[in-house]
Amino acid sequence: MIPAHPLPAQAARWQALWRDAIRDPRELLSLLGLGLDAARVSAPAAAAFPLRVPRGFAARMRHGDRHDPLLRQVLPLVEEERVTPGFSSDAVGDAAARAGRGLLHKYQGRALLVATGSCAVHCRYCFRRHFPYGEETAAADGWRESLDYLAAHPEIDEVLLSGGDPLSLSTAKLAELTTGLARLPQVRRLRLHTRLPVVLPERVDNALLDWLSSLPWPVAIVLHANHANELDASVATACTRLRGTGAQLLNQSVLLRGVNDDIDALADLSTRLFEIGVLPYYLHQLDRVSGTAHFEVDDARARALWSGLHRRLPGYLLPRLVRETAGEPGKSDL
Ligand SMILES: *Cc1c(COP(=O)(O)O)cnc(C)c1O
Ligand code: SF4
Repeated sequence: MIPAHPLPAQAARWQALWRDAIRDPRELLSLLGLGLDAARVSAPAAAAFPLRVPRGFAARMRHGDRHDPLLRQVLPLVEEERVTPGFSSDAVGDAAARAGRGLLHKYQGRALLVATGSCAVHCRYCFRRHFPYGEETAAADGWRESLDYLAAHPEIDEVLLSGGDPLSLSTAKLAELTTGLARLPQVRRLRLHTRLPVVLPERVDNALLDWLSSLPWPVAIVLHANHANELDASVATACTRLRGTGAQLLNQSVLLRGVNDDIDALADLSTRLFEIGVLPYYLHQLDRVSGTAHFEVDDARARALWSGLHRRLPGYLLPRLVRETAGEPGKSDL
């Protein structure tokens, strides 16, 4: 039988799973035994930033619960249509920090490459939902502009790959970058900011592990999980394999109303992260991006939650509570 959409010969299994993601809110809700109305889904919000959820991630959502913390992160709701003063499309000053095509140089010694605009999951609270990805990715010109910029700035010793999700690029495309970086003697560390090992753990395949193992620098992989329910056995396996390459695994989360804004949820997240070999790094206050106001937790509550965590957890499981403020030299503690 001839498949309807034959995959290129070299396509990896994760790429097929990527393409098979759920894109229709109706389908997602029906898989969970929920109706469209009950959840107050917004068609305009879904048109502006479409729903996208890998099936394996949807399988971790609780059946019949429209308040499920994983569902809330991905479902386009009518609240997104609300216009809220103070919420804009460039909340963290990315436009001013642009140093080249897909290159952000905000902080001393670290440069961030927006490797790609693509993600396996679309998170409703995301600060990059309004980013002009079309011509703005660092990979677009074979990484040339970014490599030239780094060569001209030898004080940058850490390169961060972010996005979008850098692991949505093929491993060959990532290797093209690191081959170029290996010619720059200044580079001491490589960092990946990715949600893929959490939302599509199949991405952690042998080709990716071989690439990571071959890199000449210490590597930090900053995962992005917001709730312990995201971290099932498949994610634990992916993390074990990533750690086998020598990479240091960290996690950043965003404090989100209705998702993880209680002490038990935050403590469970840190505890579960440690069980799978990941240390909590940052707990971010939400970036004030238009369409996300319903996720915001005010600063007083954020501090109270963090104090509760402080009382409950060992210091090494306590993430730093931070906010990104345009023009600041680094993330600011609250
Ligand atoms: C957040 C961020 C970094 C990394 O900051 P760390 O505090 O080192 O984790 C680097 N560059 C940009 C543009 C960022 O937004
Ligand atoms: S950049 Fe990260 S938070 Fe934003 S949509 Fe992609 S995976 Fe989600």
